[in-house]
Amino acid sequence: PVVVRLDGVHKEYGDAKALDGLSLEIRAGDAVAVMGPSGCGKSTLLNMVAGLDRPTSGTVEVQGRDLGKLNETGLALFRRRNVGMIFQFFNLIDDLPVLDNVALAAQLTGTPARQARHRALELLDELGVAERRKNYPATLSGGERQRVAVARALMNRPALLLADEPTGALDSRSGEQVMDLLIDLNQIGQTLLVVTHDPQLATRCASRLIEVADGRIARESALEATA
Ligand code: ADP
Ligand code: ADP
Repeated sequence: PVVVRLDGVHKEYGDAKALDGLSLEIRAGDAVAVMGPSGCGKSTLLNMVAGLDRPTSGTVEVQGRDLGKLNETGLALFRRRNVGMIFQFFNLIDDLPVLDNVALAAQLTGTPARQARHRALELLDELGVAERRKNYPATLSGGERQRVAVARALMNRPALLLADEPTGALDSRSGEQVMDLLIDLNQIGQTLLVVTHDPQLATRCASRLIEVADGRIARESALEATA
C-alpha cells in the first residue's frame, strides 16, 4: 500500500520556488532519506507531507486521503492521527513532565487521559526512558529527550514517522542510538521519511535515498540494508 503520494507539487513563496513539480511515492515499510543542499526544499517537502502547509499546485495524499480536500481542522486531526514527527531540537513542552508530554499526543486525538498515560508509559519503557517519566525535559540529556520525542511521535501508531535532522543536535553516541532506534522501528514495519544533511544517518537508516535540488528530485538510489 502507498502511504504518501506527491504528484506534481509546486510551492511558491512570493517569487521563491521552494518545490518545482515534485512527485514522490512512499510505500508502507519504506525508509526514505531526503538529502540536498540548504534551501533546496527539504523542509517544504516535509511540511507538505505533514499537512503543515499546502502546495501552490499539485496533490498530496497520505494514506489515500487528499490533504487538499481537508479543511484546517480536518487537516490538524488527520495529522495527529496519522503522522508522527520528530525534530532536531525535540520540540518537547518544557513545563510538562516527560509522561505528560507523551500522553498529550493521544489526549489531543480524544484518548482518555488514563489510557493515554498507560500507553505513554509503555512506550517510554520500550524506549528505555521510563525512569525519567516525572522529570522535566530540561533535566534530560539530548539523547533521552529525543527518545521521549520518538515515544510521543509513536503514541497514535502513525502510518508515517517523519524526522527532520533527528540526530542534528546529538553527540555521536546518542545520535547512533537514535539511528538504531529508527532502524528497529522500520524493521517492525514503521514507514519512515527522514530529512538530513548527515550521510551516515541516511545510509544507515534508509533503503531509499532521494536527493533534492532546486525543488525537484535530482536523483534517487536504493541503499543496501545495513542493519
Ligand atoms: P531546506 O529545508 O532544503 O533548507 P526549505 O524548504 O526551507 O529548504 O526552503 C526552500 C526555499 O524556499 C528556500 O529558498 C527558502 O528560502 C524558501 N522558503 C521556505 N519557506 C519559506 C517561507 N515560509 N517564506 C519564504 N520563503 C520560504
Ligand atoms: P533547514 O535548512 O534546517 O531545513 P530552514 O532554516 O531552511 O531550515 O527553515 C526553517 C523554517 O523556516 C522552515 O519551516 C521554512 O519553511 C522557513 N523558512 C525558510 N526560509 C524562509 C524564508 N526565506 N522566509 C520565511 N521562512 C523561511
